[in-house]
Amino acid sequence: MYTAIGYAAQSATTPLAPMSFQRRSPRPDDVAIEILYCGVCHSDIHQARNEWGIAVYPLMPGHEIVGKVTAVGANVSKHKVGDLVGVGCMVDSCRHCEACAADLEQYCLEGPTMTYATPDRVDGSNTMGGYSDSIVVSEHFVVRIPEKLDLTSAAPILCAGITTYSPLKHYGVKAGDKVGILGMGGLGHMGIKFAKALGAEVTLFTRSASKAEEARHQGADHVVVSTDAAQMQAVAGHFDFLLDTIPVPHDLNPYLDTLRFDGVHILVGLIEPVDPALHAGKLVMSRRVLAGSLIGGIAETQEVLDFCAEHGITCDIEMLDIRQINEAYERMIKGDVKYRFVIDMASLKG
Ligand SMILES: [Zn+2]
Ligand SMILES: [Zn+2]
Repeated sequence: MYTAIGYAAQSATTPLAPMSFQRRSPRPDDVAIEILYCGVCHSDIHQARNEWGIAVYPLMPGHEIVGKVTAVGANVSKHKVGDLVGVGCMVDSCRHCEACAADLEQYCLEGPTMTYATPDRVDGSNTMGGYSDSIVVSEHFVVRIPEKLDLTSAAPILCAGITTYSPLKHYGVKAGDKVGILGMGGLGHMGIKFAKALGAEVTLFTRSASKAEEARHQGADHVVVSTDAAQMQAVAGHFDFLLDTIPVPHDLNPYLDTLRFDGVHILVGLIEPVDPALHAGKLVMSRRVLAGSLIGGIAETQEVLDFCAEHGITCDIEMLDIRQINEAYERMIKGDVKYRFVIDMASLKG
């Protein structure tokens, strides 16, 4: 064991504050990482404030981790000291179930071990995330950061990036497909970039016309203002896929009308009841599919990092001093960030 430092919430109603705690010494298959940057995800806020009812305190968020390997266990073969590596939303899984065998650890039948606020599978300790100077993770859950990627803008690829990339790949989005992106935050702006890179014709749905120019700057071919009935009517039956990144309950019915028959509406931002209710006829009458997707497996997380390096895709970020993390949360809730905060971990020692 050794003493690490980081920022944690002590309860659902207290702000994040500095904390010292114990990290384990590397086990034979572990990689020890000095954290250089960590992205700030909306899930971090939900968990710090126990909005999903599953928080464990102290809760140290952070699952978009980029850093440098400082030590490796005796059996580690994938990474070596000095390598630039990343850790995303998961740090372990059962490794033998059907999902794990298919490189889909996020759907592990025994439940994956998340990067924070989950009991470690070996010693039962509460996992602590990336708002910290270091982390120790089994090598299977550590990915390589391609040389060509900028380290700071690579961090959000580990959650925001893989979450949007994985469903587009799974459903086989290809050149010429018509893809609608719902919402343009951290996830949505990455969704635009990936759908474009896959050759799709991309439309952003937004509530405010003021976002149109910015959406085109991100690569969107078209913009539909979702509160304008005439604009929604003009795209009825139009899309092959909708990638829905909106993280709060919203009416899915008007969006389903914009799908062609066999079209797929993919939820990646919402893990609450659909409200208002869905009219099943909108699915049945046109064989449409309402689907969901959770992050991506470890192999696919490596794939998306390599894909970003190859296609020059990065996440738009604003660097953050960790001492401003509580203010950053308030700004995120207001949608006042383009598009992801990334903590410069040097500020933890500053
Ligand atoms: Zn996340
Ligand atoms: Zn499993």
